[in-house]
Amino acid sequence: MSIKITNECINCGACVAECPNHAIYEGSEEWSLSEGTNIKGIVKISSGLLIDAESSQTPEKRDIYFIVRDKCTECVGFYDEPQCMSVCPVDCCVLDEENVESKKSLLEKKKFLHGEPPI
Ligand code: SF4
Ligand code: SF4
Repeated sequence: MSIKITNECINCGACVAECPNHAIYEGSEEWSLSEGTNIKGIVKISSGLLIDAESSQTPEKRDIYFIVRDKCTECVGFYDEPQCMSVCPVDCCVLDEENVESKKSLLEKKKFLHGEPPI
């Protein structure tokens, strides 16, 4: 699964710096796939759309922070547990039951975002 932020978010911003994929954005903030990742050029996202990784995308929420599903790996490949869940003071970072992903697919997403690790 990826992680989502519920309406209980108090907009404290504590989660943003913890995300290894730059998947968390403030409400009304435009996002891009390339920010905080190594993705470049035209890529297909989970919705099936082709987008320019470096282009600015419409904010998914206006009033609270949001997580870009295509950038969230549940911290797999970086940490043992989702860092946003760990730091959120009101526990509003939760598993998104509608977007279930296996550990294998989360690792593939991490590779998609950052490339192969250096040897
Ligand atoms: Fe970022 Fe990890 Fe939270 Fe996903 S679970 S949004 S990768 S900090
Ligand atoms: Fe919202 Fe929690 Fe992130 Fe603070 S840490 S901005 S309350 S999701």
